[in-house]
Amino acid sequence: MIPGPLEPPIFAHSIAGHQGVDLPAAGVPRVEPAVLLPGVALRSAPPLLPRVAESQVVRHYTRLSHLNHCVDTGFYPLGSCTMKYNPKLDDEVAALPGFAEMHPYQPEADTQGILQLMHELEKGLLAVTGMHRASLQPAAGAQGELTGILMIKAYHRDHSGSERDQVIVPDSAHGTNLASATMAGYHVVELPSSPRGLVDLEALRAHLSERTAAIMLTNPNTLGLFEEDILEISRLVHDAGALCYYDGANLNAIMGKARPGDMGMDVVHVNLHKTFSTPHGGGGPGAGPVAVTDRLEPYLPAPLVTRDPDGTYRLDRDRPSSIGRVKAFHGNVGVLVRAYSYLLRMGSGGLTQASEDAVLNANYLRTRLHGLFPVPYDGPCMHEFVLSASEHGAGAARDIGKRILDFGMHAPTVYFPLIVHEALMIEPTETEDIATLDRFVEVMTRIDTEFRSDPDVVRTAPHTTPVRRPDEAHAAREPVLRWSPEARPRESR
Ligand SMILES: *Cc1c(COP(=O)(O)O)cnc(C)c1O
Repeated sequence: MIPGPLEPPIFAHSIAGHQGVDLPAAGVPRVEPAVLLPGVALRSAPPLLPRVAESQVVRHYTRLSHLNHCVDTGFYPLGSCTMKYNPKLDDEVAALPGFAEMHPYQPEADTQGILQLMHELEKGLLAVTGMHRASLQPAAGAQGELTGILMIKAYHRDHSGSERDQVIVPDSAHGTNLASATMAGYHVVELPSSPRGLVDLEALRAHLSERTAAIMLTNPNTLGLFEEDILEISRLVHDAGALCYYDGANLNAIMGKARPGDMGMDVVHVNLHKTFSTPHGGGGPGAGPVAVTDRLEPYLPAPLVTRDPDGTYRLDRDRPSSIGRVKAFHGNVGVLVRAYSYLLRMGSGGLTQASEDAVLNANYLRTRLHGLFPVPYDGPCMHEFVLSASEHGAGAARDIGKRILDFGMHAPTVYFPLIVHEALMIEPTETEDIATLDRFVEVMTRIDTEFRSDPDVVRTAPHTTPVRRPDEAHAAREPVLRWSPEARPRESR
């Protein structure tokens, strides 16, 4: 494939006089803007809207969509992100007019259906996590984390533990864990992993104190390993008067097999846009519901949906200890509808099978690849595993990731977790078949050979994508996030 042309911003397609919509004449008398708005809020010049016909708009966005890699076009083994297939049925359900055309200010009597859906989705998530109650408000995993940590903080405040100012986070943790604890005003105490890549119980004992508010655990951790000592961990943490936060973003490895609630966890967030197969990527809408045990229930964001004895659903706003609202209205409701549809369609047997298949696929790839690229923490993994490309030289993880793009696949997550050098974190997910996995092994085998026979082809990859190697440092330091007539795209190498 030859790199295609880059699609310019839609403004570049603008032609004076063209128009995509014909608005009817207003049926109300014209009021001078100055009468309605204060002077400072008035534009001095008309907005620079592109003048494009409908056909041009559709072609522009269709071309743009072809420049992207997505789960609908190919394999996407981006570790920790769970880029699994999103069933189209769920989109159809979310597009039903009764859901899609609902307004958040409609009265409860008119919105019993969606309230029932939210109530039942909450119950489903509680069954999977083994928790007591949940809020569906958070719009992302990271926001679920912040919500959970703020609830832990409120709990300690009410139980005279407000001098607790530390949150323990293992060095294999997802980066958002440290950020969430810090945003909530805590000091992060980093916990070194054991040689096997798990929480080191001795180190944990040494770090726990009357200053500890909580531990934040990702399980399976970012090495794809299940924390075997999880019961001992939660016991130690509780004995120290602290609480256990469970990062359940990647619950797809354990659904139907093990529940955070049974592991002694006090708070867990799940990512509907990972485990429950709702679309994600590109910063699109997500949902990171957060579930708690009964002792944290009073702190959940309000309102919660409750069901009265007569079967009526309503919003319970009367929650005096609530940490408050974390998202407008009820979160990303369209995503909640998709997750509910997924849950119903899968059933508990289907969820269990999804976990089994996710773990099987990851172990299949791990055992086929670990002869080419060592797995530093090798052994049976859960839904993902981490290879090291350090034997292939400095920068090899990046170069392999770039080269994989030439074969119509997305790159794995690279340089994460930080405790593996030249890390390639691979998560095949349960929705891929063996032919796709075998093709990935073929691609990795070929790239490994290329390192010896033709290293330049790897070092200068990708060769077939519309953008090759953008200047990442420049993009980060001087990002161009907004079109202006003067803005020019940066040269890429
Ligand atoms: C993806 C992920 C998060 C963050 O979720 P977002 O929805 O991207 O904010 C947190 N923890 C883990 C382990 C994850 O994989």
